[in-house]
Formats: sequence, structure tokens, C-alpha cells
Amino acid sequence: RADMTVPAPVPSVTAPVTQDGQLAKIDQLQIIDEAQHFTPNLNKYLTKWDLINSGFDYNVVAVFGSQSTGKSTLLNRLFGTTFDIMDSKRRQQTTKGIWMCPSAYSAALVMDVEGTDGRERGEDQDFERKSALFSLASSEVLIVNIWEHQIGLYQGANLGLLKTVFEVNLSLFGGSAEAAARPKEKTLILFVIRDHSGYTTLTSLADTLKESMAEIWQSLSKPTHLANAKLDTYFDLSFAVLPHKIHQPEKFEADVVELRRRFVDKTRPDYVFQPSYHKRIPADGLNHYMEGVWAQVLANKDLDLPTQQELLAQFRCDELAAGVTELFNVSSKTVRRPIESGKVVAGLGKLMSEWLHVALTSFDAAASRYHPGVYQRKRQDLVTNLHATLSPLYLGELKNTNKAVSAMFVTDLTAALKEPSYDFAEVVSRCTRDARKSFLAVAKESTIEGSGWEYEQELALLDDSLKSIADKSRADETKKMVNGIERTVKRQLYEPVEIALSKPSPTMWDKVLSTYRDVTRSAEQSYLKKAKAYDCTEEENEVALRSLATRSWLALHHKLEEQTADPVVLSTLRDNFEQRFRYDEHGVPRVWRPEDDLEGAFKTARDETLTLLPLFAKVKPKDEELLPKLPVPDATETDSDPENFDPETAFVLVKPSRLSQLEARFKREADAAYVEAKRSMVSSVSQ
Ligand code: GDP
Ligand code: MG
Repeated sequence: RADMTVPAPVPSVTAPVTQDGQLAKIDQLQIIDEAQHFTPNLNKYLTKWDLINSGFDYNVVAVFGSQSTGKSTLLNRLFGTTFDIMDSKRRQQTTKGIWMCPSAYSAALVMDVEGTDGRERGEDQDFERKSALFSLASSEVLIVNIWEHQIGLYQGANLGLLKTVFEVNLSLFGGSAEAAARPKEKTLILFVIRDHSGYTTLTSLADTLKESMAEIWQSLSKPTHLANAKLDTYFDLSFAVLPHKIHQPEKFEADVVELRRRFVDKTRPDYVFQPSYHKRIPADGLNHYMEGVWAQVLANKDLDLPTQQELLAQFRCDELAAGVTELFNVSSKTVRRPIESGKVVAGLGKLMSEWLHVALTSFDAAASRYHPGVYQRKRQDLVTNLHATLSPLYLGELKNTNKAVSAMFVTDLTAALKEPSYDFAEVVSRCTRDARKSFLAVAKESTIEGSGWEYEQELALLDDSLKSIADKSRADETKKMVNGIERTVKRQLYEPVEIALSKPSPTMWDKVLSTYRDVTRSAEQSYLKKAKAYDCTEEENEVALRSLATRSWLALHHKLEEQTADPVVLSTLRDNFEQRFRYDEHGVPRVWRPEDDLEGAFKTARDETLTLLPLFAKVKPKDEELLPKLPVPDATETDSDPENFDPETAFVLVKPSRLSQLEARFKREADAAYVEAKRSMVSSVSQ
């Protein structure tokens, strides 16, 4: 072992030094104080020590042993820690408690457990038991510091301490055989034998210690379900010796450096922090875990490690979920207002996916280190909650898209209908296709996979909306078309009616009605031809045709009323009379001579004219087939006076009383013409 006398520090085992050559001062933290309170500052210190984000990449080691056996001295040398050292001259009593300090050489937390030797001081062993439980629940390596001369003395206090350790260990794995058999993390007990004289070899010392361990294990009163439990199911044992620090200071230093390698160099076979010893508590959960363990220990409750790990996982997963949810909500807030105000947010699906990705990645990074079952369950809860947060945005987006697309549909439809020629049905189907496509593009983009979201309902609403817009547009278009046809009807009807009625004759009504028949027939045909392009329903056609028939009939009826008004009838009669009385058969104005039969001519002209008057009384064609079947007016028509549609009244144009008035007025006018003619004859004679 000559090589061991020369210290050969490698960089990783060399303490960081400050400029003045001193070890960098690292604050120690009292995690359990003398009043047995757990520190409120562990997370703060883990952050300060730059360990909080190390996940599983950190280790925990604790030291046990009698008071004043040089434990703190060893730790400070081994790990570069700053634990208090007792003054050798005044063997004062150290306060009970557990201190923690990070190793200067690797990511390890070192716990210095004080006051674990109650039996030596004749105190109760309460704290010994508590601190043993606590250390076992969190440490990978338990250093048992022991004098060489204590070895083999079973009655020695140190080994009593180990008995306590073994006992409490059994309680950590639940009250059932299954719980005890669950895969668990072993703990390494590393005996550091102090003041090694060199007379007895390490191997022989180790053998003695192993025998003692076996004896202690044998002597334990084990719960029945663990009666056959083996020591090595729970513990590995390892050994090291150190010479007397005061008598062999150089060798002591060299051996400490060598021992340190076992805590630092992962490639060594005797590397102490083997992964199987790790208690699998992520660094960011260590505070909560230790606090919980200590609370259980204080309450004297069963400290079941698997349960503790699950509880920790629940707590930490909830905490992590709350953290990422908060950030998530900040992101999603940016689109909440635009969506609430009716805007369609472009690429919403991509945004939402990004937020989800960020949230879950961040959650997974930390939470996946915890109990897998709890983690998976909490992750599912988180996903469900995040989806639920996004759901109103999704529904809002769909609603807004529906609105925007419907508006676009109106614009497109209107523009297409302004074209000089179009097939309405084709235009509607094209615009509908475009609108659905636009909607589906947004709907599909914003539907998050695995969310269970659906847009079918909103799509159905869109379809309804498009259909009602198209229906209204078609109704408008057909109405426009009917109006146009009505104008044509009037144009084609008015002149022939005027001409026919201005030259009253017994066949006058046949002319009027055959024109009416032709005009209405061609109007109907023209409607049906155009309506085809609108894809109108039978019912719509029926309504439109009835409206057209009503309006055509009213057009004729009004024209007939106009043409049979008093002045028009009188003027027509006057023209006829004058034609007969004042012009000869050649159309030449007559000049009455005394020998002419003025009176006879007057009577003939007047009576013949009067025979025409009854023709105006009623629409009465010679061919009765020509009498039109009157339409039944729609209630929506402006002029739906029933008299205009009742065959009893509708064809009556001049009632008998008015007929006799007109006759009287005509006669007076004819008389006046006669008198004037007579006067002109007399005057021509007198010349
Ligand atoms: P702790 O109470 O176990 O933490 O012991 P300390 O580290 O405070 O040391 C108690 C006393 O033992 C101090 O006076 C040290 O100088 C002394 N001491 C430290 N290391 C050794 C050693 O290797 N051998 C001996 N005999 N004494 C030591
Ligand atoms: Mg100490």
C-alpha cells in the first residue's frame, strides 16, 4: 500500500479553493433542529447549491456513529464540507440535529447526524430511532464511523445503533409480505474504521464486523411476514480504514483522498453511489419528501417508503401541473379577447398545439421522474384540463368561422349574380362548396388530436345558414324575375286593349281576351323556362305562377277600368257619333244644305252610336271559352280586393245606373252637335 502514502489528487477530487487558498465556504443547513423541527429552507438551499434541477443526478450520504469519534472531521476532509468540529479539550455535548452540506467534489448531499448515541449518554433512544429512519429513507450510503478498538465488542454502543438501524429499516417496507418484496432501493453501509493501527488487516476487521452484523440481524425481533428476511436484501456492506489523524496526519490525508475517489469516480468497481442505492427522489421533490418523511417519523406513524414516494409524486405532479398551467394560461390569454370579439384567429390549432407542447414538455421533464403510475395519471389530468381550457377558444373559433364564411358566401353569391348570365343553381352549389371548404380548413386545423373535439355540429349549423341565405337569394331572384315578366305582360297588353276599346264592336272582347290569353300563356312559359335555372321547388313555382297570374289579371282589370272611365267612354262615343254625323261615308266633312235631312241623319248617327254603349257594360266575348278563369289572389298581394276576382263582379265594368247617366250625357252632347249643325245650315242659307 506504498502508493497510498502519496496523495495523488485528480481534478475531480480536489476541493475548489478561493483566491486566498482556502476551501470555498459552503453554508451548512440544519435540516432538523434541536426542537426536532424540519427546516423551511431546504428548497432555497438546494437552489443556492445549484442542485434543485439535477433530477436524479445527485446523491445523499449520511454519517452515523458515537459522539466525538471524529465524524464531522471525516466528512469535512472527505467532502470539503464545513460541519462544526468539537473542541477536544472540552468534551461539550453536541446538540441533537441533522445538518446538511453539499459535497465540494460531486453532486452529493452530506448529512451529519448528531446525537445518535443516546444510549452511551444514558438518554432515551428516541432521537436515535428517528434520525435512523429519516436517514435510511433518504440516503444511499450510510457511513458508520467506528474506532478500531470497538470492533468485536458487541456490547459496544455503536453496534446497538446498528440494531436500531436494522429494526427501523424493516418497518420502512410496509406491513405486508408483498410490500416487503417489492423492488426497493438497497442501502450501502460503509464502515469507516478510525485510528487503524495496522496490526489487524482490513479483511479481518471486516470479517469480524460481518459476523457481528449477522448476529444482530439474527437477534432482531422481526415481524412474522419478514421472519425469513435476509440482511443483504436491504443492505450491502463495505469497509474502509483510516489511520490516526493526529499520529499519522500525512497518511490520514492520503487515505482520505483515496477514500474520496470511491465517492467521485463512477468508473471504479467500489464506487459507492451505485444507481441501485438511489432513493429515486428527484432533487426538486427532495424538500417535500424529506419534510413528509420527518412528519411521519414525528407522528410515529408507519413510514412506508412506496407510499411516501406516491404521495410525493402526487404533490409534485400537482405542483408542476399548476406551474405549467399558469404559463399556459398566460399564452392562451393572447387569443381569448380576439376570439371573444368575433375574430377568426389564423393558425389557432398550431398555436394551441405549441402551448400544449411547451406545457407538456416542461411537465414531463420534471414529473416523469416521479412514481410512474401517479405521473401518468396526473399527466392525463393535466392534458384533460388544458384541453378544457382551450375548448371555449375552439368553439369560439368555429362559431366565428361560421359567421365569417356565411358572410363570404353572401358576398360571393351577390357578385356571381351580378354577372350578365349565370345558372343560379350552379352558382349556389359552387359558393356552397367554397364556403364549406373554407370552414373545414379552419375547423380541421384547430381540432387538437386526442381532444375529442368535434366540429360536426357547427358544420351542420353552417349548412343551415348557407341554405337559408341561398333560399332567400333565390326568393329575391325569382321575385325580380316575376316583376320583369309582369312588366312585359303590361307592355304587351295595354296597347291592344286601348285600340280594341276605342273602336267598340261586338267582337271587341274576343280581341281583348285572346290577346290576354296569349300574353299570360307566354308569361307563364317564360317563367317556367327561367325558373329551371333557379332550381325552384314545385311549391315555389306554384306560388310564383299564382302571383304572376294575379298580377296579370289585375293589370288587365285596371286597364279595362281606365278605358271604361266616364270621360274615356264619352270621348269614344263622341268620336263614333262625329264619325257618323259629321263625315260622309267617304270620310269627307259634311256641309249641311237646307234640303238635307239633318234630323234623320242626326237620329241615325245618335242611335247607332248608342248601340255601342252597352258593349262597355261587361266583359262579354262572343266566344265564351275566352273568358279567363280568375286567379285566387295571395293574401300578400297588395290589391286583393275580392270583387276583382269574383266572376260575378270582376267582369262588370259599367253598372246600369252609370250606363244610363252616360247615355244621358252623350245625348246632351249629341243634341248640342245637332243644334250647332242646324245653326250652321241656317247661316249658310242666310248668306
Ligand atoms: P464528532 O462529534 O464525531 O463529529 O467528532 P468531531 O469531528 O467533532 O471530532 C471530535 C474530536 O475528535 C476532535 O477533537 C478531533 O480533533 C478529534 N479527531 C478527529 N479525527 C480524529 C481521528 O482520526 N482520531 C482521533 N483519535 N481523534 C480525532
Ligand atoms: Mg460532529
